[in-house]
Amino acid sequence: SMGSIGHSGTRYDLDREMELRFEVEAGEKVHMELLSGLGEIFGSELNRNKKYTFGPGSKIAVFTWHGCSIVLSGKTEVAYVSKDTPMLLYLNTHAALEQMRRQAEKDNERGPRVMVVGPTDVGKSTICRLLLNYAVRVGRRPTLVELDVGQSSVSVPGTMSALCIERPADVEEGFSVQAPLVFHFGSTTPGTNIKLYNKLTSSLAESFSQRCEVNRRASVGGCIINTCGWVKGSGYQALVHCASAFQVDVVLVLDQERLYNELKRDLPHFVRVVLLPKSGGVVERSKDCRRDSRDEKIREYFYGFRTTSFFPHAFDVRFSDVRIYKIGAPSIPDSCLPLGMSQDDTQLKLVPVSPGRDLAHHVLSVSSVDDEAEGVQSQGILESPVCGFIVVTAVDTQAQVMTVLSPAPRPLPRHTLLIMDIRFIDLK
Ligand code: ATP
Repeated sequence: SMGSIGHSGTRYDLDREMELRFEVEAGEKVHMELLSGLGEIFGSELNRNKKYTFGPGSKIAVFTWHGCSIVLSGKTEVAYVSKDTPMLLYLNTHAALEQMRRQAEKDNERGPRVMVVGPTDVGKSTICRLLLNYAVRVGRRPTLVELDVGQSSVSVPGTMSALCIERPADVEEGFSVQAPLVFHFGSTTPGTNIKLYNKLTSSLAESFSQRCEVNRRASVGGCIINTCGWVKGSGYQALVHCASAFQVDVVLVLDQERLYNELKRDLPHFVRVVLLPKSGGVVERSKDCRRDSRDEKIREYFYGFRTTSFFPHAFDVRFSDVRIYKIGAPSIPDSCLPLGMSQDDTQLKLVPVSPGRDLAHHVLSVSSVDDEAEGVQSQGILESPVCGFIVVTAVDTQAQVMTVLSPAPRPLPRHTLLIMDIRFIDLK
């Protein structure tokens, strides 16, 4: 089913329900074209005779329900065809969710709220994308809730967000990110501040529910929640918290029977917990690979993607013009806490950061909180969405200014900044 066609690449002929999997080598690009038949990538349909380009490190699967021919050119690390995929089970899952949406429509109820869970590298993000694509392709308007603070598909790392899906994901660039609701978490693992993580999960759930009340299509479309791969201890508790905050109806557990049994035991009986196999195609990603894709996500935020370049601005910001906070004071022993204060309070406390050299390269969220109201209500800052991000590229303590990289020209839209643990070195 495979043949070389000279300089133009390698041709793969797939029968129905087969999948072509390939990875792009570091520093390389791979071009792909659908020659005949129908094919899709993670639920987005391919156009015939269009050249798709995938960058270094991409891990792609072209699946076909009916058969198709594909040509690949460029340096792939691996490329092979598999007949063994869980796609039929995934499609059935979509069909069941669609049935729930139809029922919701009839009964004037809300559509399915689905939480996708599993350890790292089981294809959680991929199945979310697939289910959202299938839903939007049949005319639904589902919401993606992104709780994976390490590898967010919606915004920069260290954030938690919700995005209303209005069209299928672009094959190369993913979902179009217009007007997402984004909250600042500040680091790449929920464990850094689990109280904040749970609180922001609740905030997102509340916003989503409010939207459902005024938007019937959003309500019927329901949501697909992508979670972190941390499924033990507090990570597990965070999943249980999320299920209750969003009042999920369905939990899809990928690949881990133990987690499946635990959730079946701990969630209310009306929640449908479903165990699904992971795809053999899902590729394990190393620490470096994860770091690279986090970096890439930040780079994309400032510079755009191949087809849409952005031109970020660099300018100086006076220390005296901004207020920088970190969320969460270092935890101290219970016995040392002031009377009436709990460990929760320290994790959700806003700690002023005095600007200095250490700020260099940190990513800062620009809070949407009203500059006037700020200071009065720290709770307000915690619960306000973010309106953008900047990176500190240089600090001049003498002059009391920092140089920042910003998507928009000066001045900053707001003056309350939240510091992330995450750094970005701008090599452009
Ligand atoms: P995380 O641990 O970050 O939460 P995850 O469980 O969400 O990971 P994904 O990001 O969905 O996993 O998948 C991991 C990688 O495997 C991605 O690069 C994805 O593109 C790739 N992948 C997923 N399914 C397939 C497949 N069937 N064939 C080839 N590659 C795939």
